[in-house]
Parts: sequence; C-alpha cells; structure tokens
Amino acid sequence: MLPHRHLLISAAVGMVGWVATRDKKAIPLAIGSGVLPDLDHGADYAWYGLTGTHRLLLPLHGYEWSVPLFWWSYKRWGAPLAVLTTLSYLCHLLADQVENQTKPGGYFFLYRLWRRFAMERISRDPVAGTRGRIEDIKRLQKLAARFRRYL
Ligand SMILES: [Zn+2]
Repeated sequence: MLPHRHLLISAAVGMVGWVATRDKKAIPLAIGSGVLPDLDHGADYAWYGLTGTHRLLLPLHGYEWSVPLFWWSYKRWGAPLAVLTTLSYLCHLLADQVENQTKPGGYFFLYRLWRRFAMERISRDPVAGTRGRIEDIKRLQKLAARFRRYL
C-alpha cells in the first residue's frame, strides 16, 4: 500500500485516539506506528539489488510484533496509548494484507520465514506481487532522480 494511504488511515486512528484520550501524543504515535513499518521495504529492495530476485522479507511487518510493540508502548506511555499504537500498527498490516493479496499467514514474520520469504509461496498472486515491487522500485528511482536535481 502506498504511504499516503497508510498516513490517512493512521491519522484517522490517531484522531479517534486523541478524542478518546485527549493526549497530544496520540496522533504522532498512531502515524509513527502506522507508517514507519514500511521503512523495512529497504531490506527487500537491497535484497533485490544484491540478488536480482524478489523476496518478502519485510522485517517490520509481522502480527507477532504487535505483542512487543504493545509491551514497549505500555511501558513508555501507559495502556491507552499502547492500545492506540498497536491498533494503528495492526491497521497497517491488515490494509497491506488485503491490498497485497497474500495467503492468510503472509503477514506473520515467522510464516514468511517458514516459506523462505519466497513471493510465490506467500502471495496468492505472485505475478502481481512482483509487478508491484518493480513499480515500487521505479517510483523510488524517480524520487531519487528528483532529489539529485536539487543536490
Ligand atoms: Zn506495509
């Protein structure tokens, strides 16, 4: 899913959290846990750059990570913001899973590890998944080219 969609979803979760808690950290925490997991796509692009093959490594995408995320958030900000942070993260995973058409376990890190991170063993439509990855890489290359103009 594109980052702006995750931003919209997590901002909405954050707004609900802010209304419920009146804590000004609600929106930035929801956006952080709802958008930042996609930084891990860098691992997949690096893998592709090194091997020329697409893998679904996505080390920050995993339903099992919601437990340590909740625990860490609970220790830092207490129960209401821990629920909010975890909920925003889970919304990210669910949105990705629906859009990317993976098999039911596809957004569990351990499932992907068991399937050796192979696109064809995790995705219900590996051709579309690979095509999506190639489109992502092209978008990043265009973005990098734009930044190079300003350097
Ligand atoms: Zn994602």
